[in-house]
Amino acid sequence: MSRVESEVSWDRHESTVSSIGAEALYDKCLALANNLWWTWHPDVINLFRDLDPIRWRQLDHNPIALLREFTPERLASRAAEMVLFSRINHAFRRLKGYMSSVPPWSSTHTGVLGARPVAYFSAEFGIHESIPIYSGGLGVLSGDHIKSASGLGVPLVAIGLFYDQGYFKQHLDASGYQNEEYLDTKVANLPMNPALTQTGEPLTVSITTRAGTLLAKVWLMQVGRVKLYLLDCNVQGNSPQDRELTARLYGGDERTRIRQELVLGVGGVRALHALGITPGVLHLNEGHSAFATLEAIRQRMQEDGLPFDDALRETAQHTVFTTHTPVPAGHDRFNSGLVEEHLGPLRDELGISHEQLLGLGRVEPQNESELFCMTVLALKLSRHANAVSSLHGQVSRRMWAHLWPWRVEEEIPIGHITNGVHTPSWLAWQMMQLYDRHLPAGWSERLGEAEVWQHVEEIDPGELWETHNTLKSLLLSFVRRRVSRQCRRRGESDDVVESARNVLDQNVLTIGFARRFATYKRADLIFRDTDRLARLLNHPERPIQLVFAGKAHPKDEPGKQLIKRIANLQSDPRFHNRLVFVEDYDINVCRHLVQGVDVWMNNPRRPLEASGTSGQKVVLNGGLNLSILDGWWAEAYDGRNGFAIGRGTSHVSDDITDNRDAHSLYETLEQQVIPTFYDRDVDGLPRKWVQMMMNSITSLAWRFSAHRMVMDYTLTAYVPSAGGLSCDMSVR
Ligand SMILES: *Cc1c(COP(=O)(O)O)cnc(C)c1O
Repeated sequence: MSRVESEVSWDRHESTVSSIGAEALYDKCLALANNLWWTWHPDVINLFRDLDPIRWRQLDHNPIALLREFTPERLASRAAEMVLFSRINHAFRRLKGYMSSVPPWSSTHTGVLGARPVAYFSAEFGIHESIPIYSGGLGVLSGDHIKSASGLGVPLVAIGLFYDQGYFKQHLDASGYQNEEYLDTKVANLPMNPALTQTGEPLTVSITTRAGTLLAKVWLMQVGRVKLYLLDCNVQGNSPQDRELTARLYGGDERTRIRQELVLGVGGVRALHALGITPGVLHLNEGHSAFATLEAIRQRMQEDGLPFDDALRETAQHTVFTTHTPVPAGHDRFNSGLVEEHLGPLRDELGISHEQLLGLGRVEPQNESELFCMTVLALKLSRHANAVSSLHGQVSRRMWAHLWPWRVEEEIPIGHITNGVHTPSWLAWQMMQLYDRHLPAGWSERLGEAEVWQHVEEIDPGELWETHNTLKSLLLSFVRRRVSRQCRRRGESDDVVESARNVLDQNVLTIGFARRFATYKRADLIFRDTDRLARLLNHPERPIQLVFAGKAHPKDEPGKQLIKRIANLQSDPRFHNRLVFVEDYDINVCRHLVQGVDVWMNNPRRPLEASGTSGQKVVLNGGLNLSILDGWWAEAYDGRNGFAIGRGTSHVSDDITDNRDAHSLYETLEQQVIPTFYDRDVDGLPRKWVQMMMNSITSLAWRFSAHRMVMDYTLTAYVPSAGGLSCDMSVR
């Protein structure tokens, strides 16, 4: 009897045995759904999908929502029908094994963190599309950071906010203008439980301000081995207005913002304390959570009887700060009234004056016209500060040089650790299979090691190309489904909806562009000369096609106008069938795009892209980057692993810079990208292109992995900070 047959008969047998068996099966599925470990295990994702492929898609790939539609009996009979028993059991055993093991890397490198873990603070976490508590890059980076910390076994707990309306859903109206829709998240459908105190009570923290007390309950989400605690102000006891404080990401005014940041920072440190967790390191991912340091100082003073100055020095010793914003205006600043209203009571306990507190958030402590800046607070209260790419490090050192007026720029203590992505979360299942066949066993535990990826050279070029084309066709089906749905929603005619079902062409060079529509990212750069672009799109032998996606911040009117312009160009006859805008960019849309495009285009105004990570996701899946030499690409591009726009310079005039960059973009497309893509051998294989795909994967996949990033943080920041040793503060 073959294995499959025996499994079938065993399944049939199981399904009729007992309802106890059905209950147990259901519980295993729930256990899988309740640990976000499943989000980076394609075999478990496929398992959930097989339970009901249509509902799976309709429910935003949320396994808890899906399971709630099943009774244990119906689940068991569906499992029998689909031969799922052994797959469920296998996945469940793997999860248990994962949770009870300690990865080798952590046992040799993280000893000092064992008893006192890293506390990682971030205002957003992008873990999966079904958990809408992120808006974009910063959140996805945080999600990837904690997933890799889990994979490497770095002792780390994460702290964030729970937003019960999350970020908005984007729809374009008939004129192409962005509309925002906020939906209430169903808490019961999330893998989240109340965090319990040491005595088993659901935890609520309180924070006293001059204008009353704010309460926040604390939720716990399990992300592999990492615990993620989320604070939520929607609790009884808060005023109706405060119950909505954490409803939305980056919503409301300055007062909303400082209150959210108070809850995240001060509330977060209090929550850890109440949970009996004593962190050895505070990692502030961006300045939003910098108030955490003040609460940590208070605890030190109270528990160790230290005076303020000593407690501050001690706290700074244990604090790591990552800055992400290369534009001065992008840093949170608050006026002294807001600071006093919210930090006043804490300041009383610290025993410092209003002026002293304000001084901690000012470059010039005595300068009364200077607002209180969260980044300044974070820089003053951390002994390890870093930017997120080499170039961003230079920009940040220059931007904050006046904080250390006696130092030359190179000695400003802000180093850099370049961002990376959590490989298994962004890698297509088909590529994973390919790597499984060619990379050394255990490769998925060693994602940050260069040697592992050298074996990509051994993959047969035809096989790599074929896999890429499979992924490209999946992307095109996805785009067609979404675009026809968008047309129907906008009330377009049946003809238009029908033609959307066939939009784009599998054989045409496909360029993706998706990101937040902030003006500095210049989504319309390629449209600067529409006639020249139209010639490229409609070339008789060597055409190209473009897929766009991205949201503008609700208050960013220029960003919304950019979207409108691009959306409307879709109906320009010159761009017919060659340009689409996919609405509602999120992790799901991003995953489809980065897995299926031939080329990923990125053209920010240099040096405003701190790092960027979407292009790193493309690398893993065999796509090539075409990008301005900014952020991560400035240190990644080597002339053989993708394409550069411009030469890494910019002019003082934005208009001149934009013209030069657009010119370079067209030239690079015409002279390098398009000819290389369409240069085929007798088998129809673009040999040079496939070689570039391999160069890209071997040279970049390990360097720009979140595993490498978390290893760097651990070795150069966490371990030295936890040990109280002074670490190398300049550059790693
Ligand atoms: C990866 C990702 C980003 C960040 O990519 P950038 O290159 O910084 O734009 C933003 N949004 C989503 C949904 C992502 O998945």
